[in-house]
Amino acid sequence: MKVAAPDFFEPAVGWRTWLVVEDAGCLLLRSVVFKISWPPGQELAADCEHPPRRLLSRPWHRKRAHEAPSVNCECGIYATKNMERAARYLDGYDHLLKRVRHRVLGRVRLWGSVVETEFGWRASHAYPAHIYVPTHRANGRRVNADDVALELASYGVPVEIVRGGVETMRARSHETSHARHGTRDARGD
Ligand SMILES: [Zn+2]
Repeated sequence: MKVAAPDFFEPAVGWRTWLVVEDAGCLLLRSVVFKISWPPGQELAADCEHPPRRLLSRPWHRKRAHEAPSVNCECGIYATKNMERAARYLDGYDHLLKRVRHRVLGRVRLWGSVVETEFGWRASHAYPAHIYVPTHRANGRRVNADDVALELASYGVPVEIVRGGVETMRARSHETSHARHGTRDARGD
């Protein structure tokens, strides 16, 4: 995979899927693949867990710990450039947690140290920028999206209910990209 060197620059905004899990009576965003909850009102900072913590106690592994993200590692907070790729995580990994109430799609702001990859970014710092709550789960089951949206207001960013879920998002993202191409053509660059 082609990667660029980590760099400090203006925040990038990518796409992500989050699990919505119950935690002490509240609903929180949680990463799909890693056991990481996203605290409302607080930036999320990445840690490198490669190699896993249990190996760090072995002296010959210790020197491999580093600041996340590293070009030569897989650490950092992930976001994709394209909505479709993030939407793949609306399904699967269901064996991981019992407390999952829903899955939501969103835009996420990334900053600090950011590694760009072919399909997205891995960053040292992140915070949700916009949360889209589908009215249905990937398996077709209806969710009380109003309740979920109300609870996720704790993040202080726009929370939007999307009727029809990913299909609607897909249609909308195509419209947006066409509109963007249209603008670029009009400007002649
Ligand atoms: Zn790492």
